[in-house]
This record gives sequence, structure tokens and C-alpha cells, in this order.
Amino acid sequence: MKGVIFDSKEFTVHDGPGIRTTVFFKGCPLRCLWCHNPEGLSPEPQLMVSQNGCLHCEACRQPCSHPQCQPYGRCILACPKGLLQIAGKTVEAKELARELLKQREFFEISGGGVTLSGGEPLMQPDFLCELLDELHPVHRIVETCGYAAPEIFARILGRCDAIYLDIKHPDEEMHMRVTGKSNRLILENLHQLQDSNLPYVIRVPLIPGINDTREILEKIILLVSKNRGNLEKIDFMPYNPFAQAKYEMVDIPFLYEKPRDNDLS
Ligand code: SF4
Ligand code: SF4
Repeated sequence: MKGVIFDSKEFTVHDGPGIRTTVFFKGCPLRCLWCHNPEGLSPEPQLMVSQNGCLHCEACRQPCSHPQCQPYGRCILACPKGLLQIAGKTVEAKELARELLKQREFFEISGGGVTLSGGEPLMQPDFLCELLDELHPVHRIVETCGYAAPEIFARILGRCDAIYLDIKHPDEEMHMRVTGKSNRLILENLHQLQDSNLPYVIRVPLIPGINDTREILEKIILLVSKNRGNLEKIDFMPYNPFAQAKYEMVDIPFLYEKPRDNDLS
């Protein structure tokens, strides 16, 4: 089974216990205004062009015959400053698992493992399932926004060792406004997760003007604590203010504005 990933980071220490490798799946069904991985939104590999230091020499716009450049209409290899790159590559689940398992000793010594993140890993369910199966018995965390069909969510619950689930906003209308989708499916999957007894962590990105008030955070805590299941903790994640440059690289407008008066409306 093939899938598309856009990054793999070794020795990560913030995506679960111990020393881990985090793999970033490409494609996400949400469009959070503040997303700090805009190169992970589209499910397809895409061109990224750094705007910093361009000589305007036009070398990248000359026709070339490199097969890897043809889908993008620019020559990725010609740039003297190395400003062009492709975000995303297609990989075989078995091959990727083989690479990851080379670090198995580090994982075991440190109590770590592999975290599958994104983008949204559940957007590639067959690839994700095969990868999880191939990685067994290494400790496997799936980090998800929870926006997936409940049947797909159930398939993943049976194949990993823990879930890290993002909860971004408790109110449906506001969730729709700031992520582009309702939170109903996410809450349905939260309940499924709680009933499963699988260990899980709730992650709440703290976004100024969107969810960083006491009232909203208390609502999130209340949502989760109605039926805690096997909840390990709730992590509040600080807003990453350095995302904007990456939006220019993938030619997507950055629509989030950090409010001065803490009021989005
Ligand atoms: S080749 Fe590189 S430096 Fe030249 S125009 Fe293209 S991006 Fe700019
Ligand atoms: S769920 Fe995560 S990857 Fe998807 S748009 Fe939101 S912040 Fe970005």
C-alpha cells in the first residue's frame, strides 16, 4: 500500500513518551486558520518555493527534462540557491516501516516509538493501517484531528497503542468558522475513543482570539471529563507564530490574524 508523507523527524521528544520518530502524513480535511503545516494540507506532493534570497535569474523557469520536475512546470534542480523543493513523497508502507524499525533499539531503550501525525493520518486509512501493523510491536501513537468516519476511527483504535486527539473548539458554529468543518464527527470519535479504554491524550492548541479564554477551555475540559475513559492528560499547546513564511512558499493565503483585543468577531 502506498501513501504520501511530507516529513519524518527523528529523535522527537514532544510527540509522546521516550525518543520517537514522527512521520507526517500529507493531506488534512480541516483548514484551521492558524495551521502551522500548510504544506501538509493538500494530499498531493506540491512545489514549495522559498521567497527568501531569490536572484530572479529565471533559471527555474527554463524547460528541463528531469522527470521529477515535469508535474510542477519549474525546474527544481536549476536554482543556484536551492530555493525550490517538493513537499511530499510517495512511499510504500512496508518500506517505510522497514526504515523506521532500524531505530527500534533507541525506541526500546528510551520507552519511545513512532508517532504518526500530519496533516491528518486518517485521511490515508489503508496506508496507515498497514504501517501500524508493520510497526508492531514498536509503541505506536496516532496523532489526529479526529475528523474521520467512525468506522475508520475504529480501525485505527484497534491497531495503535495510544491516540493523541486535538480538540480545537467546543462550539460547533465556531469550530466550523475557524477550521472549515463541524466538530460533531470529532466529538463522536472522542466518545468512541473514551469507550475503547485505549490510552489517549487530548491536545488543545491555544490560539489567541479563538479559544484562549478560561470559559472555552473549561468547556473543553468538561467535554472530556464527562467520560474520561483512559485519559492520560490534556496538553495545552502554545500557538506557533512562525507559520506565515511557509504559506508564502506553498502560495496559500494566511488568513489568521492574531487579535489585539482578544476578540475575533
Ligand atoms: S532559479 Fe532560484 S534564484 Fe533563480 S528565479 Fe528561480 S527561485 Fe529565484
Ligand atoms: S488539523 Fe492540524 S494539520 Fe489540519 S488544518 Fe488543522 S492544524 Fe493544520
